[in-house]
Amino acid sequence: MGGPLLTVTEVGKHFGGIVALDGVSLVVQAGAIHGLIGPNGAGKTTLFNVLTGMYAASSGTVSFAGQTLHGMKPHQVLGLGLARTFQNIRLFANMTALENVMVGRHARTRAGVWGAVYRGQGTRAEEVAIRGRAGELLDLVGIAAQRRTLAKHLAYGDQRRLEIARALATEPLALALDEPAAGMNPVERQELIRLIRRLRDELALTVLLIEHDVQLVMGLCDRITVLDFGLKIAEGTPSEVRSDPLVIAAYLGSEVV
Ligand code: ATP
Repeated sequence: MGGPLLTVTEVGKHFGGIVALDGVSLVVQAGAIHGLIGPNGAGKTTLFNVLTGMYAASSGTVSFAGQTLHGMKPHQVLGLGLARTFQNIRLFANMTALENVMVGRHARTRAGVWGAVYRGQGTRAEEVAIRGRAGELLDLVGIAAQRRTLAKHLAYGDQRRLEIARALATEPLALALDEPAAGMNPVERQELIRLIRRLRDELALTVLLIEHDVQLVMGLCDRITVLDFGLKIAEGTPSEVRSDPLVIAAYLGSEVV
């Protein structure tokens, strides 16, 4: 592992009287596949929203790639290299798979608005490069054959893969995946595991994922953080977390693997 990439220190988040996060600290090492688990309502998605600039933390600090994220908007966090996918898929339904990825890529282009209006030589070359890279990313996630299919007509598992491709188009350092296996069948889950490993091994990405499929999390992650009622109750390797009495009581129960 290449040292800390994401450091969360004593982060709290409350909504009126509801304490969604209560002084959570965690460190994600560069190159790790780090899992975030816990019962419904534990605060997992709220933490993702704080990390990616969608919510401001009520207290505490988050730093990514050496920069404090305090007050940053989602596009600024994306610019630093932290991209995400959503629990409820958010694609442009009436755009093709390829176009969806190209939109992600535009977050990184240099041409800007005037360049796009005048479409000079540089802009056209950039457009060709964007299209080419978008095609490569569809290939990487395994849906190259559906490049011209409208997002709304893709199978559910393929929509999840397309969201990953769109996030990759921003050339992130890290990917935050919110329940990437939700709604997938067992074959698709196995493919997803292979894909996430490839992203880490071939693109040197750091991955933080929320996932309810305990077997998937245990088999895939190097480290796991467990939340319950907004508190971190455990952290460690899959085998440490699996045998932790607090985790078994709060979350794993009879599911222990
Ligand atoms: P799940 O596994 O069901 O997705 P989670 O661990 O992601 O759950 P969160 O969605 O982060 O949990 O919710 C944590 C707590 O914060 C819950 O009590 C939830 O109702 C509350 N909460 C989350 N977002 C908001 C909001 N925007 N306004 C008010 N309360 C919220």
